Amino acid sequence: MSFKSKTALVTGSTSGIGLAIARAFAAEGANIVINGFGKPEQIETARTAIESDFGVRAHYSAADMSKADQIQAMVKEAEGMFGSVDILVNNAGIQFVSPIEEFPGEKWDQIIAINLSSAFHTMKAAVPGMKARGWGRIINTASAHSLVASPYKSAYVAAKHGIAGLTKTAALELAQHKITVNCISPGYVWTPLVEAQIPDTMKARGLTKEQVIDDVMLKAQPTKEFVTVEQVAALAVFLCSDSASQMTGANLSMDGGWTAQ
Ligand code: NAD
Repeated sequence: MSFKSKTALVTGSTSGIGLAIARAFAAEGANIVINGFGKPEQIETARTAIESDFGVRAHYSAADMSKADQIQAMVKEAEGMFGSVDILVNNAGIQFVSPIEEFPGEKWDQIIAINLSSAFHTMKAAVPGMKARGWGRIINTASAHSLVASPYKSAYVAAKHGIAGLTKTAALELAQHKITVNCISPGYVWTPLVEAQIPDTMKARGLTKEQVIDDVMLKAQPTKEFVTVEQVAALAVFLCSDSASQMTGANLSMDGGWTAQ
């Protein structure tokens, strides 16, 4: 598969799943726009590694996915720089865990803005160009929480269910424009963030590393293994291939069997 003449914009791609997706599209020859927060030197290292590892151009946008004007400017800037945004991956996301009655209102607003509304704003900005060129791929990183709930994650679960609905609606609207819209719903994915939580949980609950992984983190994941960022990225690349041109409006689980229960 080659995406040599294409540009992929991946929101929330300074780490974790987004960075793996960005690198996977670069490996197929696409120019890349990465986005997200983090230490400037680490972001620059990630950006230059994409360029040197894969011989493509990579641009970093610091746009805040909770701000519609910054999202519009990011898409415009990408189109100006590379000529198009052909592949759009809405991946930026944050989490907050609290009972509803104690859930801070501003956290609710922030999660809905970053995990859900940002995808509306990026699509609104990028779809006209995709329609004009007669090709586009939109992938939303949802979650097993787009299909099932867990307690204390009200905003996250609402946003992820919302993005599954937005995915279906956009798929129907764009079905005759050779633009597909799908979401990927991972279960627990092995990221640096997840890894970093293990020692604290071991200490707090007096558990071994294996107990934390099997009985706490992967309690709901029947395979008792984490999804890898590379596996999510490989599915994203497949969704942009010609073989996937008739897949649209789908919510694709990659969750070790979690939502089969
Ligand atoms: P991560 O924290 O490594 O990545 C999140 C990215 O979003 C980072 O690049 C961060 O800088 C960026 N971001 C946060 N707020 C932003 C903002 N306001 N504007 C722009 N960028 C912002 O986490 P991850 O696990 O790689 O998560 C990526 C996506 O995958 C999220 O949507 C998350 O909900 C989803 N997901 C993760 C898992 C998991 O187990 N890790 C499971 C299912 C779904």
